[in-house]
Amino acid sequence: MSDAQEHNVVARLHKVRSEMTRAVRHAGRNPDEVTLVAVSKTYFADSIVPVLEDGQRVFGENRVQESMQKWPELKAQFAGIELHLIGPLQSNKAKEAVALFDVIETIDRPSIAEAIAKEFTKTDRRPKLYVQVNTGEEPQKAGILPLDADAFLTRCKDEWKLTIEGLMCIPPVDEPPSPHFGLLRKIAEKHGIKILSMGMSADFEEAIQMGATHIRVGSAIFGHRF
Ligand SMILES: *Cc1c(COP(=O)(O)O)cnc(C)c1O
Repeated sequence: MSDAQEHNVVARLHKVRSEMTRAVRHAGRNPDEVTLVAVSKTYFADSIVPVLEDGQRVFGENRVQESMQKWPELKAQFAGIELHLIGPLQSNKAKEAVALFDVIETIDRPSIAEAIAKEFTKTDRRPKLYVQVNTGEEPQKAGILPLDADAFLTRCKDEWKLTIEGLMCIPPVDEPPSPHFGLLRKIAEKHGIKILSMGMSADFEEAIQMGATHIRVGSAIFGHRF
């Protein structure tokens, strides 16, 4: 990556940070209540290193395999990295996901909860777990349907002994996002869940207004994905 490209990535990171701070103030919240998850999927280490050098430590990836190729080395190079899995997890990748990720945001069905619980009997690693909710009830999208969320969260606790610390959603692209963020927040409040992962490049300001604790921003930092 050239110096100019590196500069662009860091400049965009700073722009996102300042927009984030403005949105947090506008919402009457404290800056330390909202964490920026920099979504580095499809980008190589040469784009990620300048962002790490600038002090960013929380990152999101959507594929286990791709992450295993990039992150062990980066984690060895930079202390304090917190890596979030934000893409669908297959049961046969639970072992790798638990070994590498610090947060798994996409617990989205009973078989995955079971696979994670089983993996926890074999290792001391305990990534934080969030449940993905399909707030728009879109057939092609992963996530627990809002109507099933109560029962699923109860099963996570009672049946699989999993502590769910957060909820995550991806609103439909063609609808205003705020009602979806509001729905996620309502489900979280009902279950005493404090973490809300919601808001991406196009809508993180609305998400912050609606109570997001984690925003997942990719293209606004790294540029368009290829
Ligand atoms: C890619 C992705 C993001 C980031 O999207 P941008 O629009 O590039 O900010 C956030 N969340 C999830 C689940 C993603 O897959």
